[in-house]
Amino acid sequence: MTEDLKPHLKNLLRQLQLSTFAENFAQQAALAANEGWSYDTYLLNLCQLEIDSRRQRKIENLLHASKLPREKTLTTFDRTRLKKNAAQQFASLMTGDFLNHKENILVFGNPGTGKTHLLAALGHELVHQGRSVYFVPSVLLVQKLLRAKIDLALEKELKRLDRFEALIIDDIGYVQQSREEMELLFSLLAHRYEHRSVLLTSNLVFSQWEKIFKDPMTTAAAIDRLVHHSTILELNLYSYRMEAAQKKKPASHDPEN
Ligand code: ADP
Ligand code: MG
Repeated sequence: MTEDLKPHLKNLLRQLQLSTFAENFAQQAALAANEGWSYDTYLLNLCQLEIDSRRQRKIENLLHASKLPREKTLTTFDRTRLKKNAAQQFASLMTGDFLNHKENILVFGNPGTGKTHLLAALGHELVHQGRSVYFVPSVLLVQKLLRAKIDLALEKELKRLDRFEALIIDDIGYVQQSREEMELLFSLLAHRYEHRSVLLTSNLVFSQWEKIFKDPMTTAAAIDRLVHHSTILELNLYSYRMEAAQKKKPASHDPEN
């Protein structure tokens, strides 16, 4: 191609939103001449470059929007520390299929048992599969909802959160919050019910959730909606009761038993 046509072609490719074509066509043409590629191979290679860079850009954007803790990935997560049951559940969640069915994931365990890391690692995997994820500490989420309500923009904020297939609410119930704040959290859960997935972590077992939602009716309604289509992961390696039961069974070394 004559040199003076290159800026024109570049411009046309940009107008067609083929920015990777625009950046690479000249260099790929030189390669094609050197290697003796057919026209088809030349075009195929450019198409592949365009697709790859779009996918990479999409994932970078999803990752940026997700607010996931950067370092809590699958690479840094030691899956061998999970009980057999939880490890199996985790592996099946990694397919992302639960998002198609609008199912929830509820992760329980004492502080430090890896709840946040587990959901963050899952979130990273989902993002790499091209799915939209949003990670938010429960306290911050409630503040955002309260702010939106004051600004008469609660509906808008709920719609904004609808953009995300997976909403990860970290550490629900960790900080005691007002009844009004918890009603907002309940509105969010009701809004997403059977419509978008909620993934959450908590140190509190369900029997203590009245501390979160303040009254028995709201607590029951919240649990009902969350549990209806859900996977529950229990991360405590040994509950006190399980440990006590274990001591009575001298022959067994399997923590599942
Ligand atoms: P939780 O949310 O249950 O309080 P975290 O996920 O914050 O616990 O885990 C506490 C610390 O231990 C974090 O630094 C986390 O990265 C690390 N951690 C927990 N579980 C694992 C694991 N299975 N593999 C690697 N690091 C882990
Ligand atoms: Mg945590």
